[in-house]
Amino acid sequence: MKLATFVHERHRSVGLVLDDARHVALLDLPDDAAQRGVLSLVEMAAKGIDVSSVRRGEVLPLSEVCLEAPIPLPRRNLFCVGRNYHAHAKELAGSVFKASSVDPMAWPIVFTKVPECVVGPSDDVVLPVGISSQIDYEAELAVVIGRGGKNIGRDDAMKHVYGYTIVNDVTARDVQMRHQQWDLGKSFDTFCPMGPWVVTADELDGANTRVRCWVNGELRQDACTKDLIFDIPSLIETCSRGITLYPGDIIATGTPAGVGMGLTPPRFLQPGDVVRVEIDGLGVIENRCVTSA
Ligand code: MG
Repeated sequence: MKLATFVHERHRSVGLVLDDARHVALLDLPDDAAQRGVLSLVEMAAKGIDVSSVRRGEVLPLSEVCLEAPIPLPRRNLFCVGRNYHAHAKELAGSVFKASSVDPMAWPIVFTKVPECVVGPSDDVVLPVGISSQIDYEAELAVVIGRGGKNIGRDDAMKHVYGYTIVNDVTARDVQMRHQQWDLGKSFDTFCPMGPWVVTADELDGANTRVRCWVNGELRQDACTKDLIFDIPSLIETCSRGITLYPGDIIATGTPAGVGMGLTPPRFLQPGDVVRVEIDGLGVIENRCVTSA
């Protein structure tokens, strides 16, 4: 299933995207549940309530609705993984991933983005002019946790995956590096475009899908998730060590090589630039960079 959150007649609604990927069937949810978008369906599923039990309403052309992030406000910070493709580790070896005393292959780098930086699949990304001059894109497959749990072993991990979505882990490189911890440089308002919907785990092999990113039509990133250094079960195992994961938690799996900072010379995002991220089996998000909301 492809499950979307969208605005229709000025109301936030949740729906099931039909197989033609051009229409969406409204799902009849109470207003407070609809406000939380697909998160409500994930939480229902964790309680054993299937989407098929929700009454379907009108079928609308997707062209007549405004898609929002499927989970417009995640229940807490998004877990994000740094340095998870070998080629990307290499391209930023002299800057973001400078040598440290920790063996980089022993454990994944995990940081977070605040939930409020999430925006929709076609929304603008506001460049924080005067604060950063090094804004970069990071195309990523994001895992949506279904059933929660703590100390989840890798052999059980996939049973805890509800589905997948796309995120662009937009990053202010100068801010990321100057504060040692990455959260500030990763969490500016609008810095997490997400969408276009959640695809349930039965419909997509997250371990083997192609991630691509274009800036103004120029292909910059192109990789397969089978090249992840730490695979999805490892990431779930790591993030749930002593920390309870909840339905609707999001783990962004890291970005491939080809970010702007890795180019020679680096090429950062400018006002008017359009970043398009496509993941096979999932869809496309496309966001324009602007200087004010
Ligand atoms: Mg990232």
